[in-house]
Amino acid sequence: MGIYFYNQGNGGRYLRCTDLSVTQKCSLKTEGKGTTRYDDGRTATQGTNSLLIELLLILLMDNEADAFYEGLPKVELHAHLNGSVSFQTIEKLIRRKPQLNIEHSMTAIGKGQRRTLDECFQVFKVIHQLVDSEEDIFMVATDVIKEFAADGVKYLELRSTPREETTTGLTKRRYIETVIKYSKLCTLTLIIKRFLVAIDRRNGSQVAMETVQLAEEFLLSSDGLVIGIDLSGDPTVGHGRDLLSALQKAKDSGLKLSLHLSEVCFIIHSHTNTTIKLT
Ligand SMILES: [Zn+2]
Repeated sequence: MGIYFYNQGNGGRYLRCTDLSVTQKCSLKTEGKGTTRYDDGRTATQGTNSLLIELLLILLMDNEADAFYEGLPKVELHAHLNGSVSFQTIEKLIRRKPQLNIEHSMTAIGKGQRRTLDECFQVFKVIHQLVDSEEDIFMVATDVIKEFAADGVKYLELRSTPREETTTGLTKRRYIETVIKYSKLCTLTLIIKRFLVAIDRRNGSQVAMETVQLAEEFLLSSDGLVIGIDLSGDPTVGHGRDLLSALQKAKDSGLKLSLHLSEVCFIIHSHTNTTIKLT
């Protein structure tokens, strides 16, 4: 069994087991034999069997920690449906629509990867291409809910902008019905599901008002699944002031409000006298 510990130039200390292809940061003081020094300042030392046992103990403790964090009951209050699609679900969607020539790198932002706001919205555009039918939406909503449940989420608020697609016959009403369909069907999963109907600010005040009217209907007919409105979309487009009457109407009808605000820096040239009491 090839077991080494590396001393990185920055003082970090890592154990590497070549047979298991695992590397683990550690703070062990154990020394080995036959040290090799690399040009970049690292040293690798041939370890002993006792070092291997210690490495396995560290890995075991990490797995226990993972299980602990997974098992913790959680609430998820900011989940955009199309922003919560897992790698596995994207894989299924890509396979369904090979003609789009979409690759995984176009549908996700990697950990630590930096993107501009425009690039982030491009990612959503690509996902919308992949999710454009009732069948797709049902699969995505089902997978997302199951994955949150598996991650220990006990209360989930999903949000999404209802879309219509002439090519697939999808309407905004069917969009919402399809998103909440799985929530209605599954009674076994121990997770409370709620849905916020999103207003995309790019679509203007008229569409915002129509979205609120649709949400009001579902508030009364969805057995408590649809509970509110989300205001989202590109914050550099339009002015929030233009959407206040729609938001006020939503609030007056008992819908809860969730608002994306102050996401970009602007110099304010004008003020509005209209306000909404949020509490
Ligand atoms: Zn958001």
